Amino acid sequence: MTDVLIIGGGLAGWRAAEAAVNAGASVALVANGAGNSPDIHAINVPVRDDDSVELFVDDTLRSGRGGCNRELVEVLCRESVKLKDEFPFDRNPDGSYKLLQPLGCSVPRCVSIDHKIGAWALAKIKRELLRDGAIAVAKGRVVDLRNGGGIYIATVKAADDEGSVATHTARSVVVATGGWCGKYDFSDNPPELRGDGIEMAAALGAATRDMDQVQYEPTVALAPERLRGIPVITTMLFEGATFRNKDGEEFLADKHANKDEISRAIQNEINHGRGSGTPESPSVAGVWFDATKVPREILDTTYIDTVKRYAAAGVDIHTEPMLVAPAPHTSLGGLVIDARCRVLRDDGLPIPGLFAAGEVTGGIHGFNRIGGNAGTETLVFGRIAGGEAASFARIRQS
Ligand SMILES: Cc1cc2nc3c(=O)[nH]c(=O)nc-3n(C[C@H](O)[C@H](O)[C@H](O)COP(=O)(O)OP(=O)(O)OC[C@H]3O[C@@H](n4cnc5c(N)ncnc54)[C@H](O)[C@@H]3O)c2cc1C
Repeated sequence: MTDVLIIGGGLAGWRAAEAAVNAGASVALVANGAGNSPDIHAINVPVRDDDSVELFVDDTLRSGRGGCNRELVEVLCRESVKLKDEFPFDRNPDGSYKLLQPLGCSVPRCVSIDHKIGAWALAKIKRELLRDGAIAVAKGRVVDLRNGGGIYIATVKAADDEGSVATHTARSVVVATGGWCGKYDFSDNPPELRGDGIEMAAALGAATRDMDQVQYEPTVALAPERLRGIPVITTMLFEGATFRNKDGEEFLADKHANKDEISRAIQNEINHGRGSGTPESPSVAGVWFDATKVPREILDTTYIDTVKRYAAAGVDIHTEPMLVAPAPHTSLGGLVIDARCRVLRDDGLPIPGLFAAGEVTGGIHGFNRIGGNAGTETLVFGRIAGGEAASFARIRQS
């Protein structure tokens, strides 16, 4: 029995664990994989003088195409500013922040730490919590969650060969199981991301929203085979990258198009027979994402991970284009929460002791997520969920 049980070992889950531990709660975390969070390259924080919380809110609402919960967006943008004091974001030699401009942002807003802020933040939080023995961690898949007499009981299938089963009990639960894009054949998500948390919370009466909304990443590698399913960062468009179909024709001149518009434009080429296949699978079509006009010094610094990954697979992106296609990337819908991360029922009332954060929730990104907003979401709402779950457990105990 712990005060708080966290289901999910991505950034939302570990961030919630950190906040719950800091609030004095006993915490257990169960996860059956690492999720998408280690792949988070950069996150949005308004750090520039010409940026502001208000502009961040406007960009997010506009990109969400009328589908966002304004209150949650305001929390996201307001709280993101605090991350500036917490994380040593990369800086240029002149001391200014190193920034990328994601599609949908009016100004450069994406900060990072060594190109991989997700892995960096996870490592930091885990190091601190595990060093202090502040948390119990179990590997396994939660297959059932129920509430008996105000106590949550989770059934966990351990990740061992025997598939043994254990139960965890807790006064409150944070559901941080990520999205469901791992269910698709061609996706950049790992297969364990199947929407389990949404199903388990729904069985406890949770409301869901926008469950038909999935964001496609426009530029996911189709070939070479060893890179299949790995996304190529779209901000290269601002540096001079272009799209070409199988006839070499350039399409989508609008560098400021949003991810959904880019995905649609690419799919339109493929649907009209203008996509290219690979020599191994000619029937699988994609388009060419051509970074050969991006200045070499930019490719070799800002996009060095992509350069190295392709080089290891035998493709020199300084001189050769990349074959890409849109793939399911982020679940936009999910559990309905309020600004305190309480999971709500259809009637708008919270389910006592049940909290959620991260990609498992809906309402923040609306119908189109700005690149970089998901990482910010995990850090902001993970912290809120963990703190609220700890407070709930304390009240329950007293
Ligand atoms: C390739 C890639 C690159 C990305 N890059 C960026 C980026 O640069 N910036 C950005 O903002 N966003 C990015 N995103 C989106 C971002 O990674 C996710 O939205 C974010 O990581 C979600 O975090 P999370 O903690 O909610 O879920 P996840 O990190 O996906 O973690 C979910 C956790 O739940 C566990 N889990 C699931 N079901 C169960 C179960 N039944 N029992 C136990 N555990 C379970 C999983 O194993 C995992 O540990 C990227 C996504 C991808 C796929």
